[in-house]
Amino acid sequence: MYRHRREEHDAGPRVPGDESRETREAGGSHEGDSRTVERAKHPSRVPPSRRLRILSILSLLSMTVACVDTAGDLPGTTSSTTTLSTTTPGFEATTSSTATTTTTSPFDELAAGALITPGGVVVAILDRANNGFIVRTPCDNTATVENGEPVGPVRVVLDPGHGGSADTGAVGANGLREADVNLTVALATERLLIERGISAILTRTADYPVRIGVRAQLADDLGAEIIVSVHHNAPTPGPSPTPGTEIFIQSDSERSRRLGGLIWEHVVDGLGEFEDVEWTAAPDRGVLRVLNPEGVDAYGMVRLPETVAVLAELAYISNSSEAEMLATDEYVDIAATSLADAIETYFEETDLGSGYVLEPRVFRPQRGISEDACEDPELG
Ligand SMILES: [Zn+2]
Repeated sequence: MYRHRREEHDAGPRVPGDESRETREAGGSHEGDSRTVERAKHPSRVPPSRRLRILSILSLLSMTVACVDTAGDLPGTTSSTTTLSTTTPGFEATTSSTATTTTTSPFDELAAGALITPGGVVVAILDRANNGFIVRTPCDNTATVENGEPVGPVRVVLDPGHGGSADTGAVGANGLREADVNLTVALATERLLIERGISAILTRTADYPVRIGVRAQLADDLGAEIIVSVHHNAPTPGPSPTPGTEIFIQSDSERSRRLGGLIWEHVVDGLGEFEDVEWTAAPDRGVLRVLNPEGVDAYGMVRLPETVAVLAELAYISNSSEAEMLATDEYVDIAATSLADAIETYFEETDLGSGYVLEPRVFRPQRGISEDACEDPELG
């Protein structure tokens, strides 16, 4: 559908991520105008190993709400408890031994842990229970699960924005739902990172809602080094000769800023491979601090995690030209590769990236849809 310049990147030998490697802090100041910062060298890329599935094009829908679920508040109190029991093969969470027996399970080894339920849902472990584990559900309830795949500490948490029938995110003129393309890009990025030896997991693995606070807390609970929230932007600002990628960073974190600069640079480079796209962009696009009128980081996905966090609005789904691009497997491939390259560079090199905007944007997001009604998915 789209022609895009596709250089034959030298795959080169790739060094798997070193789990014990300390993240190097960026040195010195790198604030500056986004158009004058020198671009860092481009790391080698892994050629696409597979063609990713083309996103299904849904029935034609009008463009709707902007990407607004990113405000969020602190996790609410738990409001219900669900007990689940499955026979899906997995680890044996408990034993029937006497109370004085010291039982062991994979989770005993974890300083902080989560599990992937038989239904494929990632949940943080809150406590042990006689019949399994008490976990935090996507809607911030508690549940007891007996089986699941343990998740140890991970370096990278990827957060596909939105999810569930009540929170599709923005919808393109071609019917493409933001929640779907966010998830597809995040899944592809996860696969690339794992192929490169960088542990990663998603906050959302299918089409269900997850509260903002639960997304943020998962990264903290897992001891992640970074969390990257993946979104596609709306509403459409003015036309632009270049992509309107916006990366929102934690205003008090040098590491968030450097990660943001790397993601902005790699994503804009990647999108530049497409031709025939009529881009749109806000005048202050780039790597941004977005503050509410009280001077606090406005978006929950950067304000709430203690983990180094960025929120990436990769392109504009509200722009019909860009929405057509977003529906292609080429886009998913390029977006995921760009994110994986940026994350790998963040861990292994000292590049600062580019795109930094000096002046913060002042904005008060609307209350997110996901903070209202929330119906948990089946856990297993
Ligand atoms: Zn969004």
